[in-house]
Amino acid sequence: MSRLIVVSNRVSAPADPAAGSAGGLAMALSAALRKYDGLWFGWSGETVEQFTGELKYEDRAGVTVSLVDLEAQDVDEYYNGYANKTLWPLFHHRVDLTAYERSYGEGYERVNRRFAEVLAPLIQPDDLIWIHDYHLIPIAWHLRRLGVTNRIGFFLHTPWPARQLLVTLPHHRRLVESLFAYDLIGFQTQEWLDLFRDYVISEARGELAGYGGLEAFDRRVQIGTFPIGIDVEGFFDARNSKEGARTYDRMAASSAFRSMMVGVDRLDYSKGLEERMVGYEQFLQDNAEMRGDVFLVQVTPISRDDVDTYQDIRARLDALAGRINGEFADMDWQPIRYLNRSYRRDQLAGIYRAARVGLVTPLRDGMNLVAKEYVAAQNPDDPGVLILSRFAGAAEQMGEALLVNPFSREEVAEAIKKALTMPLVERVRKWKALMKVVRDTDVSIWRDDFVGALKAVEVADDGDA
Ligand code: UDP
Repeated sequence: MSRLIVVSNRVSAPADPAAGSAGGLAMALSAALRKYDGLWFGWSGETVEQFTGELKYEDRAGVTVSLVDLEAQDVDEYYNGYANKTLWPLFHHRVDLTAYERSYGEGYERVNRRFAEVLAPLIQPDDLIWIHDYHLIPIAWHLRRLGVTNRIGFFLHTPWPARQLLVTLPHHRRLVESLFAYDLIGFQTQEWLDLFRDYVISEARGELAGYGGLEAFDRRVQIGTFPIGIDVEGFFDARNSKEGARTYDRMAASSAFRSMMVGVDRLDYSKGLEERMVGYEQFLQDNAEMRGDVFLVQVTPISRDDVDTYQDIRARLDALAGRINGEFADMDWQPIRYLNRSYRRDQLAGIYRAARVGLVTPLRDGMNLVAKEYVAAQNPDDPGVLILSRFAGAAEQMGEALLVNPFSREEVAEAIKKALTMPLVERVRKWKALMKVVRDTDVSIWRDDFVGALKAVEVADDGDA
């Protein structure tokens, strides 16, 4: 049986799966690696003076993990630079926040080449190789140059940008060409896949090759959509756990018969946090009679705080939450509980369950797992309502949510009112439809579909790029 090699920037295989702190993706990939007897390769998170390529092996609950250290300059240019300051904003449609530094692009190529050089000797003839996310797009191209002919698949967790934006990137062609070193490219949604195909056909004179194939740069790849989901059973366990139940009771008691709304997002400009708060402010202005009856719990752990744009948005959110609270709060009521900290999955499950409304309003998001977690946490007899941005990948499947344009404060305000006043029968009907989607896109289905599609790819005889 062929082994599976998973490659991602950081390796999230948990040392103790029973501790319950690992996310669904980490658990699903770890389970696959135990089944296929493979290994998970990535950056250790550590820096060294001089790159050596020396591998550190760990056994994490039966999963072999191999880690490599990077130089500080690598971290600066490849990770903080090209990945987080160039590709992340560009892929989330923010050319205004995109850094186009040449040194970042060079660092990105260098680290991908280094990773490929360290990884190549570990690969055995039948191994399947699965590369994750925007940090590592060129790695397959470097592996091919080193003579690797194995099946290599790539899954993009983020959106793919519109062609008109992608062409602002110097060397955009090179980036796309390097994707043609893969055998299979997976996207979260049809929309991201269509945008990729549009670029390939219009910019690179590519052609459709039937059965999900695409030809360009003298190579053929398979493309497909693989919408990621949550580990539904694991999430139910978290929700039903002692800590999940305790958190639910605590939230229910603290809400004192008011309707609670919840938002859970890393502090990131793609999440539409300012727009959400402004939409909520509009709701409070328009519905004075409902003011004391509702509050928003916004869980927002700080993320990527060494990048300037993240410090800027953090300061703006601090000011906005403070202003809305200052403007509307009363002696016994505060409209927003803004929490810059993270919670464990079991605690989050309890918080979601206590919330009448889940507010998920990213301006652009590859999928958005919070939307699925919110649905899975609800009480089937009396479920809350999901308000979901039409620009989240999740909206492609979760059309029964209240879909909103997050850029419109009026639309957000109206959706909040509609959600808070929705009759029980309608809530139950919507929740059932959404819960079916959550089950149908369970993370183990996503994983097995991708690995199955990668196995099924017919590899060209010469195998080179
Ligand atoms: N999350 C968490 N604790 C927190 C906030 C978020 O465990 O305090 C988890 C959340 O449950 C979800 C993930 O982080 O599983 C966020 O995934 P999503 O796809 O929504 O957004 P991303 O952060 O990957 O852009």
